[in-house]
Amino acid sequence: MTKTTKKPFSLSLLLTAAFLLIAMYVYCIPVKAATTPAAPKYYFLNVATGGGQKGSATLIEFRSKYYLVDGGPGNLYKGTRDKIKAIVGGTQKITIEAAIVTHNHSDHIGGIIEMVKDTSTFTVKQVYRPKTTGTSVSQNYINELDSACKKVGTAIKPLSIQSMEPLNLGYGVGVRIFGPTLTFNQWKSKYANLNESASRIENNLSMVVKVYTSDYNNNLIILGDLHYEGLKRAIETYSLGSDPICKSLFLGDVKYCVFGHHGARTSSKNIAVELDLYKTYLKADKYIMTCQKTNIAWAENYQKIVNGLGANKILNVTAGKWIVNSTVK
Ligand SMILES: [Zn+2]
Repeated sequence: MTKTTKKPFSLSLLLTAAFLLIAMYVYCIPVKAATTPAAPKYYFLNVATGGGQKGSATLIEFRSKYYLVDGGPGNLYKGTRDKIKAIVGGTQKITIEAAIVTHNHSDHIGGIIEMVKDTSTFTVKQVYRPKTTGTSVSQNYINELDSACKKVGTAIKPLSIQSMEPLNLGYGVGVRIFGPTLTFNQWKSKYANLNESASRIENNLSMVVKVYTSDYNNNLIILGDLHYEGLKRAIETYSLGSDPICKSLFLGDVKYCVFGHHGARTSSKNIAVELDLYKTYLKADKYIMTCQKTNIAWAENYQKIVNGLGANKILNVTAGKWIVNSTVK
């Protein structure tokens, strides 16, 4: 009678099973995010020294990195610089990862030119600006910006006519550029009936900048100096009759909206039409006006804007201050 022994459970089989289990655990669990989600801070700067309609500058802070959309006018640069220094704090040089110029008018591009030149305060790593312009005045600003960037080694990227161009600004911040959809001359001939000044056409050809961070419910849209004609065209181009993804990219999830043309108007005749565009399409939790109360172009429309959109939705930058998200500092 042969003695039968129970075959012991193979050690190697056991080890193999253990290895497989560990491998499954390692490969099957989702990779945890290295960092926790963070919310951006948007600083809407008052770039004027007194009352007036002096331009726009929006500083974006995300995970201790800084980005700028428009820089206010060049002749008021020191005030803008000091506000940014007060926001960032410390005595170190401030690095701006990217600066975006919505259009080549002095009250938006001027401050960026000075900032690039001011290498004792700032290092501007990258500048984006519209490629073309309609007037020699604006072309001169482009030339000045480009030569300043070249001199200090700032990268510059001119953007052609855009169609929802996505740009990665680094460190978790991205923007999508909407428009302009026409060149200056195309606009001029298509909308000849509007009889717009060259300056107003350039306003209407502002690049619309939508800012995204990992907090997708906190998005910001900056309309440059769009008047209602430019806003209408952007909405027609990116929303009406187009696919839902396109529409959602443009109009979806907007928490903050910087009013076109600082919230100022040189004429109030179209304000009702414009407010309808905001109410129907460009819905934001808060609308930011960087034009001041004492400015006549602001005052004549302010009550209409408040009545149209609701006082609780309007944020206005007061003299010498800035707004951090919804809080005036
Ligand atoms: Zn402006």
